[in-house]
This record gives sequence, C-alpha cells and structure tokens, in this order.
Amino acid sequence: MATRHLRDSWGGYRARLVEELRDSGINDLAVLEAFGETPRHLFTPDAVKHRAYENCPLPIGCGQTISQPAVQAIYLQALQLKGTEKALEIGTGSGYQTALLARLADSVVSVERLPELAESARKALDDAGILGISIVVADGTLGWRPLAPYDAILVSAASPGVPQPLLDQLTEGGRLVIPVSKGRGQELLRISRNKGEFTEDSLGNVRFVPLIGKYGYGPEAED
Ligand code: SAH
Repeated sequence: MATRHLRDSWGGYRARLVEELRDSGINDLAVLEAFGETPRHLFTPDAVKHRAYENCPLPIGCGQTISQPAVQAIYLQALQLKGTEKALEIGTGSGYQTALLARLADSVVSVERLPELAESARKALDDAGILGISIVVADGTLGWRPLAPYDAILVSAASPGVPQPLLDQLTEGGRLVIPVSKGRGQELLRISRNKGEFTEDSLGNVRFVPLIGKYGYGPEAED
C-alpha cells in the first residue's frame, strides 16, 4: 500500500512490512501509510541495508539500534496523532522513527545525546526529503524546554522511571509513551494528561537500550 510517492526499488519490501504490521494488529491507516511511504533503507548502515525492511531491530553504530518496526508502530498508534500536534522525540538514533513521526504530526523536535548519531540522522532525513524536524544534541531526560509544551512525547530508550521534566512539558490532553524498567524487563507505558491528572496504561513488554541522563541511568549503564 501507499508506496506510490517513493521511486525506488524497495517498494515490494515496504509493502510486505506494512502487511506484517497489519497482521500484527496495527489498524491505524495513517500509521500503516507512514511505514509504506518512509524509506527505512536510508536510515540503516550499509552493512545491514539488505535487511532494512525486516521487522527487527538493527545495529546503527555507537552501540545503539534502530528499533523494531512493530514496536515503533505500537508507539505511533498509541499516540493517536491527528496531524496537528507538536511532538517531542527523545532518542533520535537513526532518525527513522523521527521520519515516521514527522508524517503523522505537524512538527517534530528530536533530542539525541550522541552527536555522531544526530548528524547521520540529519543527513538521512535530508536525503529522504523529510521536512519540519529540529534535531537537538542534548540530554533528553530534561525534555526540551525552549519549544515546550508538547502534545505528544515519544521516548525510545528505557528509563528507571518517568522523568519529571517530560511530564511537566506535556500539554493538557497530551500523551507520553516511554519504556520503563520493571524487574528484569521493561514495560512500555502510555501516560495521558487530562485536567492536570496523569493516567497510565501498559502497552506490553519491550526491550530498549538505556536512557542515559540526569533523570535516567548513569553513563555506566552504557557498558
Ligand atoms: N527510535 C530510534 C531508536 C534509537 S535507540 C531509531 O529507531 O533509530 C535509542 C537512542 O536514544 C540512542 O540513539 C541513544 O543514544 C539515545 N539516548 C539515550 N539516552 C538519551 C538521552 N538522555 N537523551 C537523548 N538521547 C538519548
């Protein structure tokens, strides 16, 4: 579906990935369309490019990974975006999820702590011709105050708890999706803010690299 805007030889692979996501229970058409129209192969290193459309995480360098498409789809579906939102992403990584988010929200601010990854994500987003994204190199556990508040916040690294600055920077009616460590595993949480109250629901178990920063883990968690 919906690969018509991309003129490359990967369309069949993208279409198959979209079918897999649909079979796994993703039914938000805008989310499926975003996967169908976003060139994941531009966000994966050469060594694994041939696997770009497999529904699995892949290494992107600096000990980090591009997340599994099925998990990214769960995030995006849970945010219930209408296209009018200002979104904040913590953990740009490859920039692929940033690209998907940019198709579904009005504007995106993405924070990455590793300058090297921020730079390669910027290049990939430019190569993909995706506009409306600010990439910032900073500690995302602090959110990004200059452009706050945000209607949607997506965190793609696992935290010991929910960083308070992210709750503070969420609009009324806004949603935050974040993996939080629980026992030996991690649970993906959606937190919604309504009339100043925060409610939480679980989106299942996940496995992410650690969120490293003031309100996350210390740098030793990287080893
Ligand atoms: N969604 C990304 C996932 C990248 S992995 C993708 O699909 O490519 C998680 C990323 O979070 C890594 O790039 C890591 O460097 C970054 N990260 C970890 N702690 C961070 C922090 N405190 N602030 C910003 N980025 C952080």
